[in-house]
Amino acid sequence: MSHIASSPPVRAATRTVYVGPVPVGGGHPVVVQSMTNTDTRDVEATLQQIYRLAEAGCEIVRVAVPDAAAVQALEALRPRTPLPVIADIHFDWRLAVAAVQAGADGIRINPGNIGGRDRLARVVDAARARGVPIRIGVNAGSLEKDILERHGRPSAEALVESALRNVALVREMGYENLKISLKSSDVRTTVAAYRRLAREVDFPLHLGVTEAGGLIAGTVKSSVALGALLMEGIGDTLRVSLTRDPVEEVQVAYEILRAAGLRNRGPEIISCPTCGRCEIDLFSIAAEVERRARRIPHPIKLAVMGCVVNGPGEARHADLGLAGGKGVGLIFKGSKILKKVPEDRLLDTFWAEVERLVAALPAG
Ligand code: SF4
Repeated sequence: MSHIASSPPVRAATRTVYVGPVPVGGGHPVVVQSMTNTDTRDVEATLQQIYRLAEAGCEIVRVAVPDAAAVQALEALRPRTPLPVIADIHFDWRLAVAAVQAGADGIRINPGNIGGRDRLARVVDAARARGVPIRIGVNAGSLEKDILERHGRPSAEALVESALRNVALVREMGYENLKISLKSSDVRTTVAAYRRLAREVDFPLHLGVTEAGGLIAGTVKSSVALGALLMEGIGDTLRVSLTRDPVEEVQVAYEILRAAGLRNRGPEIISCPTCGRCEIDLFSIAAEVERRARRIPHPIKLAVMGCVVNGPGEARHADLGLAGGKGVGLIFKGSKILKKVPEDRLLDTFWAEVERLVAALPAG
């Protein structure tokens, strides 16, 4: 593989906006976001989920603000959350204003459904007063009527036209503290739309595929769309949408960023698919290693291999690895075998070595 192929993507030049203390754009690391799926009005449940998201590496969290009770909840939880909070608002400009005043670190509005120029101006004034960024979130499902009629469908061109129109509107109001997203559930439309938009503006871009689906379909769609864009240097922050626990969205987001060569958080686990040579229950061991590894922020490389025939050889770049045998297992470091243990002690012995390795590293 050439040196060029393994270099990280060259990022598109964008401005920096701050969501709370977190910089987005301007060449800063691509920021991982997620969104709570608790009832925002249940402050304790929402906070618990935010703590779990923060532990998983989420850097900005978005909460739905559908009514005045949710604004009150936002005000109550904001001082206690470890992450900056973005209020997600649809339809009601008054909620957007109230959310900003309640302490939101950012707001996401869909200009197509916020109720026209005058109402948008009120939202912009509120954001300006507190220096809070606005994400203009254009969604294929709620494009302005005239744009949809002209294009006939929510095409990439239609999404970009809507975004540019709304960005121009907010800029005319003298506000430039903006991020932009263009969400479609179609991968090719998403990629084409962001590519086009990236040529037109230098505001930070928030990437995502909307309504992406469950774990497998959602991961694949997000990986293809976000992966393609990130590899071209497009995108300053992202959210992977899954019909799942949002903690899994964060895990998938980091794997996409790792694969794209942009971020390296937490252990990379290399595991073999097993074959007829495997004589241990590798699937259970790999699942447990993956579960335990989620608590480690350090970018170490672990290998979980089915057999000694190929295991250590295939995983020689791992910091630590295990390989199965007949009723026994090997623990190896690079190509060197450290220990041979009975199968029933393989996982725990391996994990003790991982913890020893991590303890010797600087804090992650
Ligand atoms: Fe098969 Fe061993 Fe390779 Fe796993 S490491 S796929 S068990 S040969």
